[in-house]
This record gives sequence, C-alpha cells and structure tokens, in this order.
Amino acid sequence: MPKKNKALKGLGQKYGASVRKKYSRVYRLLKKKRRCPECGSLKFKREVAGIWVCPMCSYKVAGGAYDVTA
Ligand SMILES: [Zn+2]
Repeated sequence: MPKKNKALKGLGQKYGASVRKKYSRVYRLLKKKRRCPECGSLKFKREVAGIWVCPMCSYKVAGGAYDVTA
C-alpha cells in the first residue's frame, strides 16, 4: 500500500497532477501554525486572503494569499 498524502483527501482525480501538487503545498501552508511576530502567540492566522491577524494583540499584516512573506 503506497503512502497516501492526507492533504489530497477530497481532491480526487478530477485535477491534473500539477494542480494537485500545488494544492497540497498550499494546504500545508494554511494548516501550519504560525507565531505572531508581535506577541509570539500561535493563534496568528489568516483572516482573509492576504490579511493575517493575531487575535491576542490585534496585530495585522498584509502578506501573500497563502503565506506570510514578511
Ligand atoms: Zn500577537
């Protein structure tokens, strides 16, 4: 039994291999816990595409849609 990538669950064979690859990369980035650069809280998360917020200290930053570039 080949090792299955859980990130691809639900994505089926509908899309091409390259799309699935991209999706799994983005999915991992979204799931990854981030530390707020301001207070160090791990609650730092993406509010909407491109905006990252920390609920602990209200730190807000505009980053990439799927990752923080700063
Ligand atoms: Zn914070």
